Amino acid sequence: MKLLIPGPVTTHPSVRAAMAEDYAPWDNDFRAIYARVYRRLLPIAGGAPDRHAVLPLQGCGHFAVEAAIRTFVPKGAKLLLPMTGAYADRAARLAEEAGRTVVRLPVPARTRTSVEAVTAALEADPAIGHVALVYSETGSGIIHDVPAIAAAVGRLGRRVLVDAVSAFGILPFDISALDMVDAISFTSNKGLEALPGMSFTVAPIERLDACRGNAGSWSLDLSDVYDHQSGAATPGARRNTRSVPGAARFTPPAQVVAALDVALDRYEAVGQAGRLARYTANMRTFYDGIVALGLTPCLPAHVQGPIIVNVAAPADPAWDLQRFVDGLKARGFLISNFYNTPEPSFRVGCIGAIEPADMAAAVRAMDAVLRDMGIKERAGTPS
Ligand SMILES: *Cc1c(COP(=O)(O)O)cnc(C)c1O
Repeated sequence: MKLLIPGPVTTHPSVRAAMAEDYAPWDNDFRAIYARVYRRLLPIAGGAPDRHAVLPLQGCGHFAVEAAIRTFVPKGAKLLLPMTGAYADRAARLAEEAGRTVVRLPVPARTRTSVEAVTAALEADPAIGHVALVYSETGSGIIHDVPAIAAAVGRLGRRVLVDAVSAFGILPFDISALDMVDAISFTSNKGLEALPGMSFTVAPIERLDACRGNAGSWSLDLSDVYDHQSGAATPGARRNTRSVPGAARFTPPAQVVAALDVALDRYEAVGQAGRLARYTANMRTFYDGIVALGLTPCLPAHVQGPIIVNVAAPADPAWDLQRFVDGLKARGFLISNFYNTPEPSFRVGCIGAIEPADMAAAVRAMDAVLRDMGIKERAGTPS
């Protein structure tokens, strides 16, 4: 079965095979894996070993995004959030439930966040200390120009948090060149092509020191994660793992960490540019293929990113998303059975251990399922 989902993604058999063992996460052999994963993730973010740290957290991407908000934005402080889609909505909820004040910046549908609009919002409200940005908005499929927006935010003396959960390792990022960035958050899954279960944030060490005590949560305090791995005492934590870079404070899904180590072999063989090129080819094959079938992509080609394509639900009354999903599954492709665009759609991920030939086969399978379902009017309303 090929998963055409923007996470969890299709994984390589060698990555899955690393899960088929029992591991003791505090064992000396395993500590070498923590340290290796740490060393390998840091340069993907552009981090420098003496200036930046990789902070691992058990859990999925939302945990890292919430932890970054809690650690770097003081309670009650204001956070500007360009409302780019479903994942910006989620960041807003995470921030508000943590007691931070969200200032929402509307972003028109099917457009990239404008640097000028962010600048104007910050100039209008000097109390806003941070801007949170979704790099690849998985809700729409649009890539926002995070380096350019971050530079503008930095010129105004404010700071930036980046949700790079669906962008990390795929789109270029260099935290060393962006000293206004407090955090870039991502997971073991998605573009790194490992299994879900661990999340990570890369952050400046100086800021982790300055922000100790903000989080209001022990589990989600990245300054505490840093203290643990740098050897500072953490009451109640396991002392025998405490000074290993990359070590988790509490029991981690060790199999997921081991699988990530194998997935990083595959990543390093091609690098960020190689991965972006393959995913872009996947997206192009799929996008052109569905247009040729008479389906309507939600985004015009010039703003369509390489990670996820949303396709408008066919206008035909016979359209039924679950039946479509089931029909594709019977042909070896699994897509999401939900959508997160304003109008009905279906979403297809272009990331994971899949090739353009898989996308072409998925397009042929979609054609067959649409015929089976008796759908004649394939065009739909994009959103
Ligand atoms: C997938 C995703 C998340 C959340 O990741 P989970 O692992 O599902 O918690 C957050 N932000 C973006 C942009 C994502 O694509």
